[in-house]
Amino acid sequence: MPPTSETAVTGESDLALRVRQLEKALAESEERFEKTFSASADGITVTDLVTSRYININEGFTRIFGYTREEAVGRLAVELSIWAYPKDRDSLVQEIKRCGRVRDFIAVGRNKDGSFRTCSLSGEVVEISGNPSLVLVVRDITEQLRTERALREALERFSKSFMVSPDAICLCEVESRRFVEVNDSFLRLMGVSRGEALGHTARELGFYARREDEEHLARALRTEEGARGFELRIRRSNGEERTVLFSGEFMTLDGSEHCLIVLHDITELQRAASERALLQEQLQQAQKLEALGTLAGGIAHDFNNILTAIMAYSEMAVMDAEDPDEVRSHLDEVHKASLRARDLVRQILSFSRMKKAERRPVCIAEVVREAISLLRSSLPSTIHILEEGLEGDQALVMADPTQLHQVIMNLGTNSTHAMRGRAGVLTFGLAQLPADAPELDGARPARVCIMVSDTGSGMSPEVLARLFEPFFTTKGQGEGTGLGMSVVHGIVQSHGGTIAVESQVGVGTSVRIELPLHTGELRSAEPAVGGLPQGRGEALLFIDDEPQICQFAQKMLTRLGYHVTSCTNPLEALGLLVPGQCGFALVVTDLTMPNMTGIELARRIRGGHPRLPILLSSGLPGMWNNERLAEVGINGLLTKPLSIQSLAGAVRRMLDAPLPEPS
Ligand code: ADP
Ligand code: MG
Repeated sequence: MPPTSETAVTGESDLALRVRQLEKALAESEERFEKTFSASADGITVTDLVTSRYININEGFTRIFGYTREEAVGRLAVELSIWAYPKDRDSLVQEIKRCGRVRDFIAVGRNKDGSFRTCSLSGEVVEISGNPSLVLVVRDITEQLRTERALREALERFSKSFMVSPDAICLCEVESRRFVEVNDSFLRLMGVSRGEALGHTARELGFYARREDEEHLARALRTEEGARGFELRIRRSNGEERTVLFSGEFMTLDGSEHCLIVLHDITELQRAASERALLQEQLQQAQKLEALGTLAGGIAHDFNNILTAIMAYSEMAVMDAEDPDEVRSHLDEVHKASLRARDLVRQILSFSRMKKAERRPVCIAEVVREAISLLRSSLPSTIHILEEGLEGDQALVMADPTQLHQVIMNLGTNSTHAMRGRAGVLTFGLAQLPADAPELDGARPARVCIMVSDTGSGMSPEVLARLFEPFFTTKGQGEGTGLGMSVVHGIVQSHGGTIAVESQVGVGTSVRIELPLHTGELRSAEPAVGGLPQGRGEALLFIDDEPQICQFAQKMLTRLGYHVTSCTNPLEALGLLVPGQCGFALVVTDLTMPNMTGIELARRIRGGHPRLPILLSSGLPGMWNNERLAEVGINGLLTKPLSIQSLAGAVRRMLDAPLPEPS
């Protein structure tokens, strides 16, 4: 086989092969281009650089700018107003002239519907059929930019609120417990510099004022709800303690767990609240004294009546000394009058006593009746008092009796004022209301309803609307302060009750108060008054600086069968109590005496006589409770004024009680 022909044959077929390969490659490349061209999500345009007309556009371009292939091909970009800013186009053309290509050129295009699209353009000049053409890839980055901007803004908003928040905010890395970021309020709250805080733990900063808070907080953070509004005492760098509400939220940052913490300082708020409570208390006290002042005239009048009765009947007893029956009947009247005087004094004292509010089950009818009897003394005879449902009512409320007393007194006084100068009826009513049916919305528990109504002047709607305003009064200087009803409102509210007022000018006013009924035990009844308990020859020592009282006690107790030694001087009494050889079974001493108080006396007696019972008699029993008495070595309390009944009862009880343990 001639090698030449072979070579020739081979050469020919090589060329053909090469051409075929090239054609195939070209076809493949064109196909690849076509596929890329049509499938690309980006827009692609091919533009004749001589005429500047579109030769081709893909679907991606249609998606971005809204023009179909038919609408775009053969047209100029400027004809379609695709360039929002023609300057962008000029810059692009220059760039291409200079480099033959363009990369990530940002320009704003205008969609067919007029909306703007921000695009990134990349392109290259290629020859197509001998003509220089520009293939341009258009990527719509409008959304991407918008998202980026939103993110940036959100971040900025967050960091701004972080920095300017009046609440202290800090970010802690959970594992190391170190502060990663803190705001200015945090630094102010803790009194530290940023450098002192960042990179340190709460414990290193001495953050917790109470050790146990740290544990409780950690536990709360581990629960599902996390710690929200957790009250915490923190310590500032200068040692000052503050109360904050702690709220924490976990989040992952850079792959590690963090806790974002907000601390809301409530120290001032709490202080203000307790100041308000104190003021409220002072207001109530002041108002009480004011109400008492109003009543003083009436009380004095009442007292005069009582004294008149006592004086008259005792004089008559002297005159009728020969007739025992007459004497007994006169003395009965004297006794009755003195009981009335005792009650009056007791009421005034319990009403004016400066006492912290104290809740206990209170028989509401009793309180109302007491208030009525105190009011009665200041009422003109033109006003008639009616009582409805008070008799025998045993309803209890959990309340401070002095405050309830104040409520009734204020309402009664207002009604009295409203009926001034005319005849009228003042009605006090009491009723029990059963609980609402439970399926009702806002069903209320069983309650007691107290009604105070008058047939007085009534109130106009304008006055009624401002009734509970502190210092609102329609009365003249020295007559009203406008505090009464605001105090009533405050007291009723604090007892969980409601108050409603109905009034009509010229007809009268009716106030209705509802308080939750206390369903617990009835208070044990007062010990029944029976015959007088007798003595069995026990030796008593009675001490009171008032000779009359000593005399009374000496006589009474002797008559009951005791051996009584009385003295008016506590020092003298001490002289009678020789340590180790005391013949007395009981000491009864007054509280307020010159030289030495009953308390001091008791303390001195206790030194030498650890087991001798001591009974203290006092006109101000409210100041002492049993624990305080026990602390100073006193075994019992006797309330003045003394009656035979109370004295005989208390003495017997003390003597019969088991002997006190020596302390
Ligand atoms: P004050 O009695 O010191 O004026 P209050 O707070 O007790 O203050 O009452 C405020 C005002 O409400 C009274 O001045 C009076 O005008 C009106 N008011 C209260 N109770 C009655 C009532 N029962 N009848 C008519 N007006 C009343
Ligand atoms: Mg009033």
